[in-house]
Amino acid sequence: MKKQALLVIADGMGDLPNSELNGQTPLEFAHTPSLAMLASQGMFGNIHPVKPGVPVGTDVGHLAIFGYDPYEVYTGRGPIEAYGAGIDMEPGDIAFRGNFATVDDEFTVLDRRAERINVGTEALAAAIDGVVLSDGTLVIARALSAHRVAVVLRGKGLSAAITTTDPGTAKEGHKIVEPAALDASAEAQHTAELVWELTEKIYPILSLHPVNQTRLINRQVPANMILLRGVGEEIKAPKISSRYGIKGACIAGDRTVLGIARMAGLDVFHKPEFTAGFDTDFMAKAELALSKLSEGYDWVVLHVKAPDLAGHDNLPQVKVEMAEKLDQMVGYMADKLDLDQCYISYTSDHSTPCSRRDHSGDPVPTFVAGGDVRRQELSGFGERYVVHGCLTNMTGQDFFLTQMDLLGVVPKLGA
Ligand SMILES: [Zn+2]
Repeated sequence: MKKQALLVIADGMGDLPNSELNGQTPLEFAHTPSLAMLASQGMFGNIHPVKPGVPVGTDVGHLAIFGYDPYEVYTGRGPIEAYGAGIDMEPGDIAFRGNFATVDDEFTVLDRRAERINVGTEALAAAIDGVVLSDGTLVIARALSAHRVAVVLRGKGLSAAITTTDPGTAKEGHKIVEPAALDASAEAQHTAELVWELTEKIYPILSLHPVNQTRLINRQVPANMILLRGVGEEIKAPKISSRYGIKGACIAGDRTVLGIARMAGLDVFHKPEFTAGFDTDFMAKAELALSKLSEGYDWVVLHVKAPDLAGHDNLPQVKVEMAEKLDQMVGYMADKLDLDQCYISYTSDHSTPCSRRDHSGDPVPTFVAGGDVRRQELSGFGERYVVHGCLTNMTGQDFFLTQMDLLGVVPKLGA
C-alpha cells in the first residue's frame, strides 16, 4: 500500500536557553511526551532552515520546507501575498504587496496605512480589480488583512526589475516614488511606466469611491492610494505535484504560509477558527489533517503560528504552553495513525528566541518517525536532546527530500 506522510510545522519554535525557564529552552522545559515518543521512533536532529547562521523569514523558511532553494526561487514578497489572497499567478505575471494609504493631490503620503483601515477594503480592491492599462495589461487586486492588498499585473513584456512606489515606513510627508527600471531592458522601462500609470489611475477611482465618501463623513482619512512594494515574478520552479507526482495539503491559519503552500502546488485548507494566534483551535486542525489523510492526500502539512508570536513577544511561559498544546495535538493524531502506513514529521521554519524577540539563525529541532525509519537513543525532546541525532546539520531542503524519499517518489540519480 502507498504510504502517506504528515508534517507538523511549529512556526518559530526553536529557541535559546532562557533564565525564566531554569536555563532551558521552551521546548526543553515543556512537557512533550508525544513529541519525545515519536522522535525516538525515527531520525531526529537540529536542522538549519536554509544555511547555518542565516536568520530567515517565515516565507523563505517555508520555501525550504517545501523543497525549494530560496536563493534560486525567492523573487519578492508580492507573489506570496498574491497566492495568499487567492490569485493564481500565471507565467509572465508580476505581483506586489500593497498598503491602502492616504495621499494628498500632490501624492504626498499623509498616512501610509489610512488609519489602519479594516472596513471596506474588499470594495476598494474590487474597484481596482479589472482595471486595464493603456497597453492592455490587466490589473488584479484582492484585499488582504487590515490595510494590506495584493496587486498583480497580467500582460505582455512585464518585468519585476523595477523600483516600487512605496517611499517606506515612517516616510509620511514624503511623496510617492515614481518607479524606475533596475536594468537596461525595454520591459523594465515599460513596466515602470505602467506602474506609474496605475498609480495615477488609482487615485481618482479610490477618491470617488463610496467607501471613502463615508469615511470623510465619519471624519476618517480616505484610503485613496495603494502604495506598492515587494515586486516579484511567479516562482519558476515546478510545483510539488509535477515534480514528485504527489498530492499535498496544507492546513494553516497564517496567510503567508497558505500563499507559499499554494505556490508550491499544495491544496490549502483554512477555517475561521484557525486564527494564526494563541487562541487557534489545535484540535480542529488535527481533525482536518486526519480527514485529509483519509481522503488520500500523500503529504499533509499542518502549520501552527503561535510559538513564533510568543517568541516575538518575549513570552517564554506562553511558548511553553503552546509547545504543550502542540504536543497534545500531535499525540491525538499519532493515536489515530499507523506509523507503518503514515510517517509523522515535525520541524520549524526558523528559531524565534524569546530573548531576541526576532528570528535567529539557530537550527531547529526536527524529527521524522515511522515504522521503517532508522532509530537512535533519545531521552527527551528539545534543542539539547536531539543534537546527537543524524539529521543535525541537514537543511530544510534536505529534510524535505528525506521525507519524499521515504514516500519513494525521489528519482534515482544515476543508473
Ligand atoms: Zn515563521
